[in-house]
Amino acid sequence: MAEQRELDALIVGAGFSGLYMLHKLRQDGFVAHVVEKGSGVGGTWFWNRYPGARCDVPSIEYSYSFDPELEKEWRWTERYAAQPEILRYLEHVARRYDLMRDITLETCVTAARWDGKSNRWKVETDKGDTFDAQFLILGTGALSVPRMPDIPGLASFEGTVLHSAQWDDSVDLAGKAICHFGTGSTGIQLVGEVAKVAGQLTVFQRTPNFAVPAGNHPLPRDYLDKLLPHYRQLRETARTSPLGWSHPTSPGSAKEDDPEAREQRLEQAWQAGTTGLLQAYEDLLVDEQSNAYAADFARRKIAALVKDPEKARKLTPQGYPLGSRRMCSETNFFDAMNRDNVALVDVREEPVETVTADAVVTAKASYPADVIILATGFDACVGAIRAIDIRGRDDRAIRDEWDMGPRAYLGLAVEGFPNMFTITGPGSPSVLSNVVVSIEQHVEWISRCMVDMREQGASGIEADAAAERAWMEHAHEVAHSTLFPKADSWYQGVTRDGRQVFMPYVGGVGAYRRKCDEIAAAGYQGFRLEHEQEEVA
Ligand code: FAD
Ligand code: NAP
Repeated sequence: MAEQRELDALIVGAGFSGLYMLHKLRQDGFVAHVVEKGSGVGGTWFWNRYPGARCDVPSIEYSYSFDPELEKEWRWTERYAAQPEILRYLEHVARRYDLMRDITLETCVTAARWDGKSNRWKVETDKGDTFDAQFLILGTGALSVPRMPDIPGLASFEGTVLHSAQWDDSVDLAGKAICHFGTGSTGIQLVGEVAKVAGQLTVFQRTPNFAVPAGNHPLPRDYLDKLLPHYRQLRETARTSPLGWSHPTSPGSAKEDDPEAREQRLEQAWQAGTTGLLQAYEDLLVDEQSNAYAADFARRKIAALVKDPEKARKLTPQGYPLGSRRMCSETNFFDAMNRDNVALVDVREEPVETVTADAVVTAKASYPADVIILATGFDACVGAIRAIDIRGRDDRAIRDEWDMGPRAYLGLAVEGFPNMFTITGPGSPSVLSNVVVSIEQHVEWISRCMVDMREQGASGIEADAAAERAWMEHAHEVAHSTLFPKADSWYQGVTRDGRQVFMPYVGGVGAYRRKCDEIAAAGYQGFRLEHEQEEVA
């Protein structure tokens, strides 16, 4: 039956963001409710059930830090936990903090309208529910709207089509002819596993990516016991670090070392796991020459790992700096490329002409397919927010407002949309950090803001246009002082008039946190607070 509820806060999404937001608001005495599209909690880890899915930030850090008791009782079994274990963890969190009674599943928030008279949001769902809430909190995820590729003829395919983020594990891949698109972080994990069971696997690659061995391993049972006395310190280091994890970036420049020392340092970093290589020297993401040394090292690794020189050539990234596109974490990907049942098609050299009922056809060949796998990514950072018809002041639609590039003050709040918060929104560290650390920081900032407003008798808060513009300009300048914009990547949004806007904030997790805290301590500088009777600057 359709619900009608009055709330302090309506939270959209039940991933890491929504679950903690609900818990925190309850602790602070607010009435909050979560609406989630999926039939279970977990967000990313509910949807991305493809073989090989796992995190690439060590699990002891890619997990909540808000409760030391939770830390003590949950024992990660691997350095980088696989999807089922992360999903179990989030389900455990939902049970442990009794969250389910305030979560509505299998329901999509379709529209939200700001009512300036009551200073409240009117929220609608696809099930006909309506919520009347003072605050609208979007925990909708930066990577939650799967992107379907525009491949000619795909609709005429008569076999099974699987997107990595809408995986159906009842589909049996054993012995099948499989055509796979996409070699980003997901594709690289997936191919390594699918190759082991497929009859024939053809990988269609558009842009090769740098991939570093994950270095995953089981965590011994006593590992956590030894870690526990230091866990708080490790968390604090992560919170104040540039990237949101405790592993430090090594000082110096690759330009300063002689070739032998450089090779040694890069080799050590390569062996350290996913983020190791990028953290080998502190200037890798700002200095082209230093970066070129590390990129050349990674290219030589591919040549050594992939036996067929033609495959190795196709897999070797060229023309953009290492790390300017998301570094991938690989376990069996290069091994898969050495298997006889795996072929690699570079779609830039051999474009797909069409998909037929049972094959993918290029100018050179027809590749039979029982199953087509799409690891083709997401409408990143803004897709899930734009999918909701959100109307702010004067009926302004966020979809239209963001057509000319997403804008958000601190990546947290959007001018024209009072009492609305975007967890890991564009303009915040979000996907360029350990996202759980960034989520916790946003959740805690939002709840502190709501508590402060309650204490001050404020009913509304809205980002100021000038402060928002200044923040977005700052975020742009910081991004352009690095090598990130030198690559075409999903970090860049494209505006209606074709400009690229770099979406995550690259100024560093620790520095960003300090800035947000200073702004709150200064009475929410750059925001306008509305009280019942008066409006104050
Ligand atoms: P999500 O987990 O995406 O949850 C958002 C939820 O909102 C979803 O369940 C969605 O169904 C729901 N939703 C969206 N719109 C609506 C609507 N209109 N109505 C109702 N519900 C809605 N980050 C890292 O830091 N380290 C990693 O190792 C890492 N690995 C990743 C691996 C994969 C395969 C992917 C896809 C992402 C990974 N990420 C990683 C990023 C990951 O998305 C975040 O770490 C984190 O899980 C995001 O949590 P969230 O709650 O903000 O969003
Ligand atoms: P992605 O990085 O956007 O990769 C999508 C891939 O599909 C790219 O290789 C893209 O090529 C390709 N593609 C798209 N359309 C295509 C077409 N028509 N023909 C051929 N190829 C096409 O998406 P993702 O791999 O799902 O990863 C998204 C993000 O999720 C990651 O960057 C990361 O933040 C997170 N993630 C993390 C992990 C982890 O290890 N923990 C695992 C998975 C995901 P182009 O590059 O040329 O566009």
